[in-house]
Amino acid sequence: MDYYKVLQSSHADDLALIKKRYQELLLKHHPDKNGGVESSEFLEIRKAWNHLSTPEARKLYDAELFGSQLSQDSAVWCTLNLQDLRFNGEEYSYSCKCSGNYEIHQEEIDIILQEGDKSCFVSCDSCSLTILLNL
Ligand SMILES: [Zn+2]
Repeated sequence: MDYYKVLQSSHADDLALIKKRYQELLLKHHPDKNGGVESSEFLEIRKAWNHLSTPEARKLYDAELFGSQLSQDSAVWCTLNLQDLRFNGEEYSYSCKCSGNYEIHQEEIDIILQEGDKSCFVSCDSCSLTILLNL
């Protein structure tokens, strides 16, 4: 399970934004609105927030997330350099063989570089493939 997806957020979002989404989702799925029953969505949202609610917890979860992506070698379709992607002034994109797209925002790249990484994984928006992107 990707806790960022549960909270309708992305890895690049800052904590304040994720918290805002969490609170909105929590209200939407609150047991009070569901006859007092804790729905599975509600429990997932709570769990996801537990993993992302502090910088320390988030760092740990990110390491887990990217570690698990690293070990899924078969899901990596190819390795690309940033200049292989199309740039529209804000976002880099690349067409997947499934006709989906790989997209990464300039801001996400800036954050990755700031953290000292030279590469990252980008997931296709419509299939399970991933590309390894050298920055
Ligand atoms: Zn695809």
